[in-house]
Amino acid sequence: MLASPPVNHETAAMTDVLRPTHVEVDLARLASNLAAIRSRVGTAKVMPVLKANAYGHGLIEVARLMVSLGADYLGAAFLEEGILLRQRGITTPILVLGSLAGEQIPLFLKNDLTLTASSVDKLRLIEEAAAALDIQARVHLKIDTGMERVGVHYYNADKLLEASLQCRHVQIEGIYSHFANADAADLSHARLQLERFMEVLEFYERRSLPAPMRHMANSAGILQLPESHLDLVRPGIMLYGIYPSPECQRTVVVEPALQWRSQVSYFKVVQPGHPVSYGSTWQSDHPVRVVTIPVGYGDGYFRALSNRAQVLINGRRYPVAGRVCMDQMMANIEWDSAFNGDTVTLIGTDGAESITADDVAEWAGTIPYEVLTNINTRVPRVYVGMEPGCKTTPAA
Ligand SMILES: *Cc1c(COP(=O)(O)O)cnc(C)c1O
Repeated sequence: MLASPPVNHETAAMTDVLRPTHVEVDLARLASNLAAIRSRVGTAKVMPVLKANAYGHGLIEVARLMVSLGADYLGAAFLEEGILLRQRGITTPILVLGSLAGEQIPLFLKNDLTLTASSVDKLRLIEEAAAALDIQARVHLKIDTGMERVGVHYYNADKLLEASLQCRHVQIEGIYSHFANADAADLSHARLQLERFMEVLEFYERRSLPAPMRHMANSAGILQLPESHLDLVRPGIMLYGIYPSPECQRTVVVEPALQWRSQVSYFKVVQPGHPVSYGSTWQSDHPVRVVTIPVGYGDGYFRALSNRAQVLINGRRYPVAGRVCMDQMMANIEWDSAFNGDTVTLIGTDGAESITADDVAEWAGTIPYEVLTNINTRVPRVYVGMEPGCKTTPAA
């Protein structure tokens, strides 16, 4: 196996000395989430989506795990994510899902990255660049069926498919579309999009040509629209154990793989009339114990969580008191006890209590996707749950 050892517990302890704040990623959870997705989609292949630092979980480590678990494809958003994966020794096919700029194409080709052709013009640029290098470009065609983001409109798609048949230096390996509303309770728009995509695919039937690999389902499609699984699915958020929306049916059981922890760095008693933090937005009417936690919006803990979020200390919930600063924040523990060095859980489980990315998203007025991808790279990632080179050993 290619994977290098995930950070072991010794390194984790070292990390705590350097920075008493870290994100802990349970590789065994990611593995069981992948297994759950696979059993839901049957014969369809699974392309784990690793964009935005693998939704905050760490691009390289998650990629290595997915490769070790036999992933056939990986999905990235940007060229640079694909290049980073190649530089770290990942040889699995990587589809870059985002739109590409013409001058990037040689870099895609030199790094053996699969390109998304989202217009006739971009396809022509890919063909020209591949011809110049005298190689075959691997390409997936992108059809816009109702997202209005990237892709040739379904009602103009024949032109792109026709043009793709003329290319000599392009191998059309796949064709795909993306849902705008597959996470909704009302699936009528998602079904309309799928219908439009299937109509586009009739192009191949009419010519008695085999269709390239067809794919459309994101996490929400996997969960709610089995008819959208087609030849391959592209799970992102659910791979990380989070559901796309509260409305979305939970037809596959997945569990969060990420916990975000820090430590108490300071303890004091705050008297009434002495407000806490910038802007003096919070104060108590009786003496309280307030702890300081060395994590802030500069780490990706939203400032919008000021006076709204809760954290866990010693298995109990406490409210964030006052504004979240760039590097620190405070929590009111009333008259409970906490000591410097006690673990503070921002996302995760402590004893019987849990705080999920969904909870944090609700407090901050956003979605769990943004909570996860917002965790800054300044926060060290620590990997647990699997020994290096081993696929199934659970955490000690
Ligand atoms: C991000 C993305 C996905 C994964 O979406 P989730 O909702 O996280 O499952 C799939 N396909 C494309 C094109 C994407 O951009």
